[in-house]
Amino acid sequence: YKINKDELVLLEELGKGQYGTVQKVFHKPTNVTMAMKEIRLELDETKLNQILMELDILHKSQSTYIVDFYGAFFIESCVYYCMEYMDAGSLDKLYGEGVPENVLAKITIAMIKGLKFLKDELNIIHRDVKPTNILVNRAGEVKICDFGVSGQLQQSLAKTHIGCQKRIQHEKSSSSYTVQSDIWSLGLSMLELGTGKYPYPIPDKKIGMFAQLAAIVNGVPPVLPADRFSAECLDFVAQCLNKNPQNRPTYAQLLEHPFLEKYKDADVDMKSWAEQAYSSRKDLLKQT
Ligand code: ADP
Repeated sequence: YKINKDELVLLEELGKGQYGTVQKVFHKPTNVTMAMKEIRLELDETKLNQILMELDILHKSQSTYIVDFYGAFFIESCVYYCMEYMDAGSLDKLYGEGVPENVLAKITIAMIKGLKFLKDELNIIHRDVKPTNILVNRAGEVKICDFGVSGQLQQSLAKTHIGCQKRIQHEKSSSSYTVQSDIWSLGLSMLELGTGKYPYPIPDKKIGMFAQLAAIVNGVPPVLPADRFSAECLDFVAQCLNKNPQNRPTYAQLLEHPFLEKYKDADVDMKSWAEQAYSSRKDLLKQT
């Protein structure tokens, strides 16, 4: 099934990304509310068609840990990507002062299962694992988005937005980007989720990019506070942040780590957590 623009009713704007806006839309033929991401690109029709073709494999594979893909189309040189609407938004706006360990465990399990699915089923490494790219709904489900399915789209984005840096990675060049790099980013994301802030100084007027890079490459990896998180949890993050990529565990090994074993069958009320986090986020928005 192909979605086209005339079948969509535009609702509100959900956010602004690096490449364009994300809008809430209603798809009339199916009665489904969707999130539509606009990606502005200067491309010819051949390349745009190649992108649509490459995105098509998403129709064939679905996972509960991956934001559903409904379809894409282009108008002029913009790609419009329609996906599952996640009504609590991205994790970066939900973690507040940091999430409790049991919630962190459930989020981590969802992230690993999603990343493992991408790798095993679609042969994709995510390359941009961070709380902004993890979406939550008020049913308490946690899903990954913004992964590079389309090689042509990734290439075009890289070309049109050379100035826009992704977060600095431990392994610098993109050719050496491997699944181990995603595992490193998973560890950093857990630190951010657990503490409520990104674990390294963010480059600004005082701290340059090189200072941040030096802190990441030469510094001791940051840790979660031991008064709020168990030894198993601290060890799990430490293993993801091993300086030697070869020594980081695989997804299968991570799923068997004592930290996740402990919470695997635990009944954590993710729905209440998501609802509460979402409403405190709204209150925050009202104040400012
Ligand atoms: P970026 O380009 O910085 O990765 P995005 O363009 O992916 O950001 O998204 C911008 C914002 O739009 C996100 O912070 C999120 O709040 C919102 N958003 C993106 N996708 C969805 C979705 N499927 N459902 C609900 N909100 C979304």
